[in-house]
Amino acid sequence: MPRLFGTSGVRGVINAEVTPKLASKLGLAVSRLVGGKKIAVARDTRRSGIMLLSGLLSGIMAGGSDAVNLGIVPTPVLAFLTRALGLDAGAMITASHNPPEYNGMKLFDEAGMAYGPVQQSKMEETVESGWKGVAGWNQVGGIVEADETGRYIEMICGKVQLTKNWNIVVDLGCGAACFLAPELLRLLGCHVTSLNSQPDGFFPGRTPEPSPEALAPLSMLVKAKGADIGIAYDGDADRVSFVDERGSFASFDRSLAAMASYSLRRSGGGTIVTPIDASMSMDDIAARENGKVVRTPVGDVQVARAIKERGAIFGGEPCGAWIFPEFHMCPDGILSSIMFLDAIETENVSASTFLSRVPDYPVLRSKVNCPSNDTSCIMSRLKERLAPRFREKVDVLTLDGIKVFTSDWWLLVRSSGTEPTIRITAEAKTQKKAEDLLELGLSEVSNTVREICN
Ligand code: MG
Repeated sequence: MPRLFGTSGVRGVINAEVTPKLASKLGLAVSRLVGGKKIAVARDTRRSGIMLLSGLLSGIMAGGSDAVNLGIVPTPVLAFLTRALGLDAGAMITASHNPPEYNGMKLFDEAGMAYGPVQQSKMEETVESGWKGVAGWNQVGGIVEADETGRYIEMICGKVQLTKNWNIVVDLGCGAACFLAPELLRLLGCHVTSLNSQPDGFFPGRTPEPSPEALAPLSMLVKAKGADIGIAYDGDADRVSFVDERGSFASFDRSLAAMASYSLRRSGGGTIVTPIDASMSMDDIAARENGKVVRTPVGDVQVARAIKERGAIFGGEPCGAWIFPEFHMCPDGILSSIMFLDAIETENVSASTFLSRVPDYPVLRSKVNCPSNDTSCIMSRLKERLAPRFREKVDVLTLDGIKVFTSDWWLLVRSSGTEPTIRITAEAKTQKKAEDLLELGLSEVSNTVREICN
């Protein structure tokens, strides 16, 4: 059986890869995993959300667990409430930033941590074993509807106060943050203009991924309104991206490094966690701010685990998924935007100045499609041939894929955790070098795929 879990839960095209039947099997599996207790459920705004939720609920109750339905909330709110309400697991119906035809599920334990490899394997084994271990007729679980977002709002407002009269534009992308984010930002004293603020699972305003292209209307509105900053979330609001007061998109690597730099400055040093594909600007700012960088394989699950194990003060991925462990252990787009505003007002500068204080090296990303999901042969061939392609002395790291690097540049080739592709990422201190690296990576991967798959 192919692995169900990718780098961030189960995900696929609706009624092809992800079906109500699969949702019910996952519901039964999580119910059996926690031993017939209480499980939080929620969904984003996708059209297929209620259909999958119905399957998930059937499985949970068939396994003898009770479900607590939190309605449409962001993934981080589901994760936070799972712990805050003392529940035994949380299941979020979402395909995050994927297009509207996708959906899936993210799972969390009683501490609000994303399920790791051990729990994922147990879930996969149970799904594979069939419809077994169901409850007797008089042990079937029940369901309660619960609006508990007030607890999340209280938690945030109890820990952060904004003092500046922020004039902000928020692009909600018709996703899971629609109801909560404007309310919370206004409670913190912001003057909020909302864009794409109606919940709509077809995502008519923009793609659920807050990419520079998708945020062109946000940029225009920030400039037109003379706003201080523009903020956007992905479909389930565990990611954030920013547009500065001039309407310029803040590169993901740069906003991550700026936030990490501020976190270190505020704490007088400490450990920050980031995956292997994040910019070397993270190392630069850590050296400057008395910090230490721990690198992980790609995926927010890996980052969260490392933050916990290393006692880190902050962690984040260069896709806008940031974790603030003093609040909770799930990447949280809304919290990230509030912490970003807090950092900028504490430093008493504009958004563009705040961002300009960290290096912005060119990071180029591309991918090569593979005819098969099994990329192991391709990756082992690349492991032999990639490093010898360079004349200079290089180091090699195989934490996740193959990273070839020097102190001035790096090239990473790795299998995607969410689709049958090999991703290539290159960073250098000059655009030309980054382009050369990407070209070399693309050609090596394409040739290897052709050799092995033909
Ligand atoms: Mg997401």
